[in-house]
Amino acid sequence: PTMAHSEPLLVLENFIGGKFVPCSSYIDSYNPSTGDVYCRVPDSGKEEVEAAVKAAKDAFPIWSSKTPLERSQLLNKLADLIEHDLEAFAQAESKDQGKTITFARTVDIPRAVHNFRFFASSILHHVTECTEMPAMGCVHYTSRAPVGVAGLISPWNLPLYLLTWKIAPAIACGNTVVAKPSEMTSVTAWMMCKLLEKAGVPPGVVNVVFGTGAKAGEALVCHPDVPLISFTGSTLTAQRIMEKSAPHCKRLSLELGGKNPAIVFDDADLSQCIPTTVRSSFANQGEICLCTSRIFVQRGIYSEFLKRFVAEAKKWKTGNPSDPTINVGALISKEHLEKVRNYVKKAQAEGARVLCGEGVDPLALPPGNKKGYFMLPTVIAEVKDESCCMQEEIFGPVTCVVAFDTEEEVIERANGVKYGLAATVWSSNVGRVHRVAHRLQSGLVWTNCWLVRDLNLPFGGMKASGIGREGAKDSYEFFTEVKTITIKH
Ligand code: NAD
Repeated sequence: PTMAHSEPLLVLENFIGGKFVPCSSYIDSYNPSTGDVYCRVPDSGKEEVEAAVKAAKDAFPIWSSKTPLERSQLLNKLADLIEHDLEAFAQAESKDQGKTITFARTVDIPRAVHNFRFFASSILHHVTECTEMPAMGCVHYTSRAPVGVAGLISPWNLPLYLLTWKIAPAIACGNTVVAKPSEMTSVTAWMMCKLLEKAGVPPGVVNVVFGTGAKAGEALVCHPDVPLISFTGSTLTAQRIMEKSAPHCKRLSLELGGKNPAIVFDDADLSQCIPTTVRSSFANQGEICLCTSRIFVQRGIYSEFLKRFVAEAKKWKTGNPSDPTINVGALISKEHLEKVRNYVKKAQAEGARVLCGEGVDPLALPPGNKKGYFMLPTVIAEVKDESCCMQEEIFGPVTCVVAFDTEEEVIERANGVKYGLAATVWSSNVGRVHRVAHRLQSGLVWTNCWLVRDLNLPFGGMKASGIGREGAKDSYEFFTEVKTITIKH
């Protein structure tokens, strides 16, 4: 890739103890829509992580002794400051990640703002348990306290959105944090650091070290003074994190990959189902852990569904992410684009049919985006359940459509993967949607909709999709240590 000569390179610095500090070495970061290096990210390692953990440890006594209301006010201020700069954050997220400006403006940054407001509010409303034992003359109650320095590791697909989904509950509960965003999408985290002082967040409460997973991430996971790690990313990395944290018996929250089914029964309202399932397959280039990638359609409506689904998918325009009329931006990297394309090739080699997109339709890009990592929304049919395209997480704009006959059969096939994150069920039969929802091995089941979230409720996956849940109560429980206290009167 060539260097962008028109603009000076953006150079990020770590944020440790309330100060920006340069690093001795840097990693190149690419603009996925042009293929140009446009930013340099610190290549932190043990030394930087050590300094950040120390700063977080030093800040803990004061931060943890503040009242929830005091912390809540600072979180709200931070939310206001990010919201004030929403457009700049959205532009930066789109440029850094490849996602469309529309998605960044309407989903990523508003949700990052909301994450802070949500936990600023929810932290004020927890109650602990109390039981009485009159026969013993005792009262028992529980009390919760922050754990200490939390290590937060986040992926590249929803950079600020997912990082703040961890930072907000962690600091609301009184922990201090060392965060490590993905080395491929670090810019918005760095921009957020610039607002912390203005929001009144004391130095050392939020520290951010930038760098790779192997160096910076692993140094954080292995640090003895970081008792809990909240991680969102791939299942493979999670296995490594479990291994590396095992000697320290760390508390882990793991939000991992998915291979999410959509089940479309013959009584589904296709006018709702089709546009929503196109969106659930291709939103954010299919780079959302909750994206649909296996669509099971009941045989009676299979051909009609396929025809209408492909027609709808073809309406999605791929191109320059900063063009507000574009639906599909660039994939995160050249390597990832290759990986996603290879899945389509493998499916073809196995005899599946590619109905639109990759290798079938022409992809016209503006001159400035010719070297970007683009791919058209791709629909594959006649693919076997055992195929890697039906078993592995592709994490790109590729979805498979297959036919089924019975409810019993489709439940078994939908459950026949190692993942269990999110599923959607489309039917107008209320009994059936309940029955199917109960039997799906999936942390989230949406019926007749997709990605409608109430942050109060648990979010997370079964099987290889994760361990633990996040949400108002779940994040509170994860980021606090509970104690049972007994009083004899
Ligand atoms: P990844 O696992 O490669 O990286 C995630 C983060 O972990 C990055 O910050 C990376 O630098 C770091 N990391 C890598 N190796 C590490 C190590 N050995 N020790 C410590 N940290 C390490 O994942 P990715 O490619 O960035 O993200 C895509 C994956 O994330 C997909 O599998 C997707 O499904 C998953 N995801 C899950 C959710 C969810 O909530 N369940 C949400 C978004 C993304």
